[in-house]
Amino acid sequence: MNIEQSDHLIVKWVSGGLAICLFPFIVLRAVQEDWLMAMLNMAAVSLSTAIFFHVYISNKTKLARFGLSILASVVLSITVYFKGISQVVWIYPTITLLFFLLSPKQALVMSLSIILSITLFSFAEANLILLAKFIVSSSATMFFCFAFSTKMRLQAKKLSQMALLDNLTGAGNRRALDSKLSEVTARIKRYPQNTCSLVIFDLDHFKSINDNFGHVFGDTVLNTFVKVLKGRIRSSDYVYRYGGEEFVVLLEHTDVVEAMSLAKELGNELERIQWDIEKVNVTVSSGVAQFLEQDTIHSWLQKADTALYKAKQAGRNCCVAHDSDAVAIVRQMRIEVA
Ligand code: GH3
Ligand code: MG
Ligand code: MG
Repeated sequence: MNIEQSDHLIVKWVSGGLAICLFPFIVLRAVQEDWLMAMLNMAAVSLSTAIFFHVYISNKTKLARFGLSILASVVLSITVYFKGISQVVWIYPTITLLFFLLSPKQALVMSLSIILSITLFSFAEANLILLAKFIVSSSATMFFCFAFSTKMRLQAKKLSQMALLDNLTGAGNRRALDSKLSEVTARIKRYPQNTCSLVIFDLDHFKSINDNFGHVFGDTVLNTFVKVLKGRIRSSDYVYRYGGEEFVVLLEHTDVVEAMSLAKELGNELERIQWDIEKVNVTVSSGVAQFLEQDTIHSWLQKADTALYKAKQAGRNCCVAHDSDAVAIVRQMRIEVA
């Protein structure tokens, strides 16, 4: 189960649970002939049920979260207004619920509004010590929930960033590449005038670099190469570790000719690096492919891989574009000339 699915499930449980828990209160208030509270509970049960089905059918939770938060806050405030300060005990689960459903800042604003409104309309009647206890205890609950939920969110953000990064080099990992490729290809299918190219880089004879100079030096080469790539590409482009010593650079709004020239420049930059160890010459081969109309993610990667294979066959330390791209470029040039 992914995070989104668990989110849906939790919002469904909260809205369904609220409807079920409030239902007996409709009966209780009706037996007591307290028609106002019976109506209020009935409205709350109907809204929670509607929110439950909204999430069930649409699988969207944003509106449901706000709906549930407002519903809980309004029901609580009205209950305390009509039934008196003894009902404020319900503020503790309500505040917890708000921090559970909303962002920490939104929940803080909504909790503060409830505490303030209850304080204002209870001020005239309630015992002042009781009111002070209510303000201190509900504010403390609010601040603890705020601290807890902020910490949880920061941790979740850090974890999801870590899940998309390669440990050693800090480049994106395969999972990040797959998700970016799905996003980019969907966009190009929608706007076919956009160009996008990808380059697969593979360090040459990397196994012998490891064998001759050690694994630690091999790691330094990988890190340095990623720095070279990141230093040269635009902030809108991305670097991913595709395999051990293979990297993919995704270049949006770039055709195969521009991508080839960039790949060559990057190869030259790597070759010019002065390493601490003497007699080391690190080079890289690359294969370039532009996403064309008939391509899929698989065929696009396959094209770049085939081009890379040809670069290796051609003696390494060079860059090759896939044939189909060359054909497309020639066709395009003919059209432009005509
Ligand atoms: P080619 O020019 O044909 O690409 O030859 P190659 O030696 O680069 O390719 P090969 O696939 O034979 O070897 C890749 C090597 O990359 C083998 C593996 O030990 C090394 N490697 C993979 N991941 C890492 C890593 O994280 N750190 C280090 N130091 N080496 C790694
Ligand atoms: Mg390789
Ligand atoms: Mg290699």
